[in-house]
Amino acid sequence: MKAEIIAVGTEILLGQIVNTNAQFLSEKLAQLGIDVYFQTAVGDNEERLLSVLEIAKGRSDLVILCGGLGPTEDDLTKQTLAKFLGRDLVFDQAAQVRLDEFFASRPASARTPNNERQAQIVAGSSPLPNVTGLAVGGILVAEGVTYVVLPGPPSELKPMVNQELLPYLSETSEQLYSRVLRFFGIGESRLVTLLHDLIDRQTDPTIAPYAKTGEVTIRLSTKAYSQKEADAKLAQAEKEILAVDRLSDYLYGYGEDNSLAQVVFDLLKEKRKTITAAESLTAGLFQARLADFAGASDIFKGGFVTYSIEEKAKMLNIPLEELKKHGVVSDFTAKKMAEQSRLLTGADWAVSLTGVAGPDQLEDQPAGTVFIGLASAQGTLSRKVLIGGRSRSDVRYIAVLHAFNLVRQALLSKENLV
Ligand code: ATP
Ligand code: MG
Repeated sequence: MKAEIIAVGTEILLGQIVNTNAQFLSEKLAQLGIDVYFQTAVGDNEERLLSVLEIAKGRSDLVILCGGLGPTEDDLTKQTLAKFLGRDLVFDQAAQVRLDEFFASRPASARTPNNERQAQIVAGSSPLPNVTGLAVGGILVAEGVTYVVLPGPPSELKPMVNQELLPYLSETSEQLYSRVLRFFGIGESRLVTLLHDLIDRQTDPTIAPYAKTGEVTIRLSTKAYSQKEADAKLAQAEKEILAVDRLSDYLYGYGEDNSLAQVVFDLLKEKRKTITAAESLTAGLFQARLADFAGASDIFKGGFVTYSIEEKAKMLNIPLEELKKHGVVSDFTAKKMAEQSRLLTGADWAVSLTGVAGPDQLEDQPAGTVFIGLASAQGTLSRKVLIGGRSRSDVRYIAVLHAFNLVRQALLSKENLV
């Protein structure tokens, strides 16, 4: 926001007073992050004030006038601004009451018609009450420019600025907006390498990657006057990011707290589908995540924790010899677990997780080897994922994220993924 201060008063130009109001205002505006580009002093003269307003209108978003709100003939700031904007002066009710109260205890002769002008504002202004004086101030937005009118005496101007103007400006000045993009299936270092040029070049919005266990987020931040203005800038930056090396394939959602589990839960609800799971190494983690959400019973009726090979055979009704023949960490077992759990519960979708949580290897497979099965009415598939170099709890946690991502892809897939 570009601001400009216009101090009105011939006394300033004659050197009789120092323009401390401009100094005070500049300091306060700087604290709010508002750039003051010009300070002007102009005499009590309509023609010259009009010419100053004309220049200010063309180069500033915020024009603050101070001085010349009093009752004497040379006080012409409000009248001149009204003329400049082609508006009338109207009475502010509260300022009128204040004026009446002030003169109530004084002889009637003390009140002159000129005093009435102190209770006037330019039509369309929001009044700024004067707690230490009689002349009301005002804020007015016309053709995208905000005009502020303040009294000259610092004892009146300062409280009006502190109590009325600054709170108003802090609400209407630029604010920080951000958008968080959530990615799964790509590591932070690869993402940062791919976006290196963009991150280096980009200053607005800023691009900040952040790695979490098993996923990466990118926060885009920008300053803007409105959500709409921010959205336009953020959408453009997002478009550029997603165009890099098909990064859009890894984007699963938006927002600070939106998890993969949440995204899948919402999709299942939206499509009115149910899901079950048979879990080995994750021992119910996937199912527990589903139960985190209110309304989980609509999409999840129950499932299986089949940790040992015997329980896989018994609970899921899979021949033990077959499991032994293929091994529990196998494509066969993952598919069978998914198929059988779907069959036994009647759910629309079934997920299975079987693998090596570590730290030791199993069936000659290294720690972090996980098979994830997915079954639906269309068929069954399995994916092998390698979650290397991770702790036992990370392997189990990340395996669940892969399972959710597989369901997400299947639910969104145009062709039948399964
Ligand atoms: P009043 O009702 O007192 O006439 P006003 O709003 O009409 O107030 P001016 O007549 O321009 O304001 O100035 C009144 C007094 O306020 C000046 O004599 C001076 O003491 C002080 N003043 C005005 N402008 C400034 C300024 N820019 N910086 C510091 N003091 C100022
Ligand atoms: Mg005056």
